[in-house]
Amino acid sequence: MSPEGERELQPVLVSACLLGAECRYDGAHNHDAALTRLLEERGERAVPYCPEERSGLGTPRPPVWIESIDADAVLAGEARVVTEGGQDVSAEFLTGAQGALSVCEEIGATRAYLKERSPSCGVCSTHVGGEPTDGPGVTTALLQSAGVEVEGVEGRRP
Ligand code: SF4
Repeated sequence: MSPEGERELQPVLVSACLLGAECRYDGAHNHDAALTRLLEERGERAVPYCPEERSGLGTPRPPVWIESIDADAVLAGEARVVTEGGQDVSAEFLTGAQGALSVCEEIGATRAYLKERSPSCGVCSTHVGGEPTDGPGVTTALLQSAGVEVEGVEGRRP
């Protein structure tokens, strides 16, 4: 039980790069101070997670995108995730997505805040065939299919 007067904070999963972790493919971060303030207002506690690092792809790593169709097709084994050099990293992406779901289950999170346009974390926008495309990334698609509410965050806001 928390000390009297201390708020119980609801844990939520957050793309680690939005919290300042240098885990982007190019070794940079997407720190978003506005998101940190929003979580505080909402009484939520950020639990950082990077699916691409968790999958073992490492940082830095080559740019990656969903090769064709969409993230649901990747989850169904009907499409691949590939690097710009054509290497198939679908298995790593599935590992990272499943890890995100496991963390949500462990911490009791029913909400996540993930970075837009990523092939893993995108919510309204991801990359298919190397182009920005409407639709979620692989991790987001899996979380949403499991009932986790996912909010897209642009990142790099002061
Ligand atoms: S967008 Fe997602 S996969 Fe990409 S660096 Fe951030 S947390 Fe990792």
